[in-house]
Amino acid sequence: MKCKYCEKILSDDAELVLNYFHHVGSDHYDSLDAEDKMMYDIRKKMMQSKKDYELKKKNVGDSDLIFNSKNSEI
Ligand SMILES: [Zn+2]
Repeated sequence: MKCKYCEKILSDDAELVLNYFHHVGSDHYDSLDAEDKMMYDIRKKMMQSKKDYELKKKNVGDSDLIFNSKNSEI
């Protein structure tokens, strides 16, 4: 698909939405209108908190594993 703001063509793969999001953020953020900027910021926050959640989940999962292996030694 073609970028809405420039002539760049983005490949239609699984990462398209993410790639487009990052492209708009880095290349066109200043040219977004107020509403689009707001949407971008909300989206970015959501992605960040999802990342934090997955990181947290991973850490909790790891400590669970340690706990379980310790327990099984007793
Ligand atoms: Zn562009």
